[in-house]
Parts: sequence; C-alpha cells; structure tokens
Amino acid sequence: MSRFLNSIYQTLDAYTPGEQPKDGAYIKLNTNESPYPAGPATVKAVTDARQAARLRLYCDPDAVALKDALAERYGVKRSNVFVSNGSDDILNFSFMAFAQDGVLFPEITYGFYPVFGDLHGVEYTRVPLKEGFFVDPEDYKGKGKMIVLANPNAPTGRALGLDVIAEFCESDPDHVILIDEAYIDFGGISAVPLTAKYENLLVVQTFSKSRSLAGARLGYAIASETLINDLERIKYSTNPYNVNTVSAAAGTAALSEPEYYRENCRKIMETREYSAGRLKELGFEVIPSVANFLFVSNPKIDGKEFYLELKERRILIRHFDNPAITQYNRITVGTREEMDQLFAAIRDILDRKEEK
Ligand SMILES: *Cc1c(COP(=O)(O)O)cnc(C)c1O
Repeated sequence: MSRFLNSIYQTLDAYTPGEQPKDGAYIKLNTNESPYPAGPATVKAVTDARQAARLRLYCDPDAVALKDALAERYGVKRSNVFVSNGSDDILNFSFMAFAQDGVLFPEITYGFYPVFGDLHGVEYTRVPLKEGFFVDPEDYKGKGKMIVLANPNAPTGRALGLDVIAEFCESDPDHVILIDEAYIDFGGISAVPLTAKYENLLVVQTFSKSRSLAGARLGYAIASETLINDLERIKYSTNPYNVNTVSAAAGTAALSEPEYYRENCRKIMETREYSAGRLKELGFEVIPSVANFLFVSNPKIDGKEFYLELKERRILIRHFDNPAITQYNRITVGTREEMDQLFAAIRDILDRKEEK
C-alpha cells in the first residue's frame, strides 16, 4: 500500500482467491468450479460471430433477455430479478446497501463477507458455529442486524432448512436476510419461493458453480421489487454495464438447456457420495455435504501438510489459514476419474507417512 491510498483502505485485508495455477497441468479441486464444460447451446452462444459483432455497442444495462429467462426459470417477474458481474458483485452491493445497522454471519463461512464488511466500514459479528459446524438459529433471530448466510455453507457444506430462513425473515422484517445459494443446485432446498412472501429476503445465486460459467462472471438475485430496486440504484451508481454482452448471452443460453446442467449436478452429487465413502475408508472425517465439495480432516496428517503433499503431486485442494479450521481442507468434487487419482495420491501420502 502507498501513501496515495485513502486512509480508510489502509488496513483493508483483501480476499485471497483460490489458486489458478499457470505452471502446467493440475487436477484442480480447489475453487469449486464444475469439472464439466458448458453445454452445447451455451458454447454456441459464446462463439457466435454475431455476438462478436455486437461488442462494438454497449451491452443492455437492463440485461432484459437474461432477466426474462431467469424470471421464467424461477417463476417470478422480471422486476424480481437482478443480474451482476458474478454473485460477489451482489454481495458487495448488499454490504454497501443494507448493512447500516451491522451484519451477522458465521465465524466459518465464505471469506469474502468480512472483506466486504471492512471495505464498506460496516460493523459485523462473526457468530461462532456449534460443534460440528452447525449454525444455531437462536444466535441470529431478532438481533436488529442484516443476516448473511451461505446456504449450503462454505466451506462446510452443511445446509439450513427453509423453516429457519422463514423464521429469520419474520423475526426482523426491517433488516435484510441474504441467503447466498452459490451451491444450491447440488442438493439443497432453495429459498427462492419464500421471496414472494418476505420483502426482506434476498436470495443470491450464480452461474459459476452448477452451470460451468465461472469465467463468465455471472450472478443473480431474486427478491422483492423493493430490494431489487435498491440494488439497481447501487448498480446504476457504480457500473450499469456490469454484465457484458457475451456473458449475458451465455447465461441466457445456459437457461435454455437445463437438462444438461441438471445431469451434471446429478453426476457431481453421485461422485460426492462415492468420494465421501472412499475418504472415510482412508481415515478421514467427512462433514456431510449438500454442495459440490467435501470438508475433511484426518488425524493421521496435518491439514497444511496434506494440502502441500497433494500440491507436490499436482493436485490442488483448498487449505484455509484460519486457525479454527487449519486441520481441514476443502476438496471440490471433480469427475470420477479425477477423484480416483486423488485417492491414489492420498494412499501414497499416508503410506509414506506410516513408513517414516
Ligand atoms: C463461489 C462463491 C461465490 C461467488 O460466486 P461468483 O458468482 O463466481 O462471484 C459466492 N458465494 C459463495 C459462498 C461462493 O462459494
């Protein structure tokens, strides 16, 4: 940081994204991307020459075609849909827009939440989880603050039921309940239907995980017109063109081939259950997950050492520096073949440790 940086940002601790290695091939199980390519209609939309010709012009700031496709998919009106440059964009806007009375989120959750809190000078509370990484609803109800919950939670993979989310909304109608559903398509139950009932409920989803479009940067929110209008006000005060022409076309096309993405999610869930079983056989504790990753630890090997040993074998998983979870690693569910290579590497690592 330099003397030029505004003093309000001098102490900002920026988010550290998962590694995107540039030095050759790794099996990438570290950033929860889909192991499967985007579907044929999606790829066609991106490679269409007419799309390239349109890049001369500004994109539609209202992204009407994309919003209409989302509205149809979720059974809401266009005015209930907001689109953005990845869902991180919406989280950023929401901390900017709705957190004036402070924010509650779990101590162990998506690492970007405290960064957005710091960025916007918002007071936030990291609520400890219960033993086994459970959220205790009583810690959040009626506290007079915005609530931000990843559901399923990351990196644990545990999910809350809709009854709890409804209770949060009812317990504090004057504050926003933001449910970050980045992983909802892998077995959780979406809170989107509750947005018809609760004006203060903001459900955020993304094309990055279940729809193979992490690089396109495309996120969306479903909520009451009230909250969507507030988000639009922030968007139009920062960057009205935050969803570019090509990404909007990719997202619209992805919504036209839901069976393709549903089948990918089914395969990932199947591989997740298979992988959880294999990891337990190898002596791991595996937190039950309804996401596309598994959160694991093994008393036979230190968490950081495990991560480094796998990296040496050209397999990347995600290790977090947070001391509370330093014995754990988050492993993205890849293809069956990638996971079998992972298990072979793990066997090798554990065997060598035993020989020592
Ligand atoms: C991946 C992830 C996001 C970010 O998704 P983008 O749409 O790629 O910005 C948001 N929240 C959680 C919990 C995530 O894991």
